[in-house]
Amino acid sequence: MSDARAHGRRRAITPAIPPLLSSRREALALERTSIKPQVSAAHMLRRSVANGAGQKLGLALAVTGLALAVTVPSAASLAANPSQPLLASASESAVTAASDVPISFAAPSVSSALNPDGKLKATLAVKASNVSPQAAKGTLSAPLAELVESSPFGARINPLTGAVGEIHGGKDFAVQCSTAVLAAAGGTVTYAQWHEFGGGNRVVVDHGNGLATTYNHLSSIGVKVGQKVERGQQIALSGTTGNSTGCHLHFEVMVDDTKVDPQGWL
Ligand SMILES: [Zn+2]
Repeated sequence: MSDARAHGRRRAITPAIPPLLSSRREALALERTSIKPQVSAAHMLRRSVANGAGQKLGLALAVTGLALAVTVPSAASLAANPSQPLLASASESAVTAASDVPISFAAPSVSSALNPDGKLKATLAVKASNVSPQAAKGTLSAPLAELVESSPFGARINPLTGAVGEIHGGKDFAVQCSTAVLAAAGGTVTYAQWHEFGGGNRVVVDHGNGLATTYNHLSSIGVKVGQKVERGQQIALSGTTGNSTGCHLHFEVMVDDTKVDPQGWL
């Protein structure tokens, strides 16, 4: 009986919350939010698990001690609090770990040796015409498995006409007909057909930012305009079509549509 009265009294009081109690409740709520940041990593992880987000990842990384970094995106309610000390220390430690790693300018060139297209991409961060000879050197791969130079770039006597002082706009490599011709770098095919000015069957690959390579006198073409090609990918077979005295590959490097010595890029 006394119990029932006590309950009844409590019920009777509850609807009429005095202003003081209301503000006290707010104060308690504030206290609770300010306490939240100090919850343990384990509690945060439980929250993220309860949210269902990143559960497995969170658990897996909790084992390796990286739970804090992982719970950041999943515990959205906690992330909403900018003064979250645990999150702050987590990101601080992430930064510390990164700055602890010695930064070496040699590192990119080491990795680019394994990733020549990465090196070319880095080189072509500036327009091809602004690339220094030192930076250009070695950014293109050989267009044939074996390079046997038969005629260099530059002034020469035309082998067909005998004209003196003609500029040879590419580099000739002696090779048997029907040998695989390889893209010197990744890029997009912009030309893949007969060339009416002596190139015979010709393929042009655009490598971006003003750099292109051309492959001439081909016996057959294996790519289409618009096709993306990888470095070293077979794009054609060598031949002697067009103005050619025998099987060879006439290879050109174009910088802003001007032919340059391919040797500077190979
Ligand atoms: Zn040539």
